[in-house]
Amino acid sequence: MARVVFLGGLGRSGTTLVERLLGQLPGVCALGEVVHLWQRDIRDDERCGCGARFSGCAFWRRVGERAFGGWNHVDVDRVHALRDAVERTRHIPRLATAAEAPPEVHEYADFYARVYAAAAEVSGAEVVVDSSKHSALAHVLRWAGDIDLRVVHVVRDARGVAYSWTKRVSRPETDGAEEMTRYSPGRSAMLWNAHNAAFGLLAKRGVAVHRLRYEEFLAHPRSELLKIGDFAGLRLRPGDLAFLGNGYADLGVGHSAAGNPMRFTVGRLELRRDDAWVSSLPAKQRRLVGAVCAPMLRAYGYPLLKEESR
Ligand SMILES: [Zn+2]
Repeated sequence: MARVVFLGGLGRSGTTLVERLLGQLPGVCALGEVVHLWQRDIRDDERCGCGARFSGCAFWRRVGERAFGGWNHVDVDRVHALRDAVERTRHIPRLATAAEAPPEVHEYADFYARVYAAAAEVSGAEVVVDSSKHSALAHVLRWAGDIDLRVVHVVRDARGVAYSWTKRVSRPETDGAEEMTRYSPGRSAMLWNAHNAAFGLLAKRGVAVHRLRYEEFLAHPRSELLKIGDFAGLRLRPGDLAFLGNGYADLGVGHSAAGNPMRFTVGRLELRRDDAWVSSLPAKQRRLVGAVCAPMLRAYGYPLLKEESR
């Protein structure tokens, strides 16, 4: 049975950085956002984190052979149809309360379970990491019988998340042809509430969930990684964290299938809090996001301005 650490949370919450650091640990194989593998990799042949096209990456070729007898045997249209049918935020209440999931949920989860098991075999890793983030997918994976699912719920201050969603970021894997999605602060605030609440619900359904505040992770990466290691059942030794220095991490090449452009970073990466939102998010938007997200910001221990907490 594959042991899977699923990194969950709203996009721009820091899951890619967490994944990159986890991927440096012995016994861990980081896969990127597997949710996008079907379209962006199998169909569109975008770049793997190692820099090769998906079809040219030896790691993923072996995973595809083990999982499906080759990626050409995956019915991507079927995956998309199943995704539309079951992996939607609006389906979470049903997924969370049903006594048994419909067959489509099991069928969809099985595509992921096969990728995880094959990746664990090919890499020899104890733990595979999927940083797909989507809360609805985590609720689907709860029903997969052959996954030891452990969810790391990454939370970042909603105002920092909102600011990040307003910025333009190009997608290097498309060689500059496309930009990443942008959301207005109001929209990202609503999504922040919905996705974070969904991970709370997952924990109530008995799934192992470890909550990680991104700001804490950046401030104390060593101790936070050790905590995640414990949660994932890894027996880490102090030397296993030698890639971490004072305020930086040294990253090796990974095979992240899809996700944030940071998946291509190799070498020294500075670890510092990005608090640009404090000065750059307009006051009106800051108040809006703070007010919409106030109850959960407070629950997670984030400080609120007086005018945000009304
Ligand atoms: Zn690769």
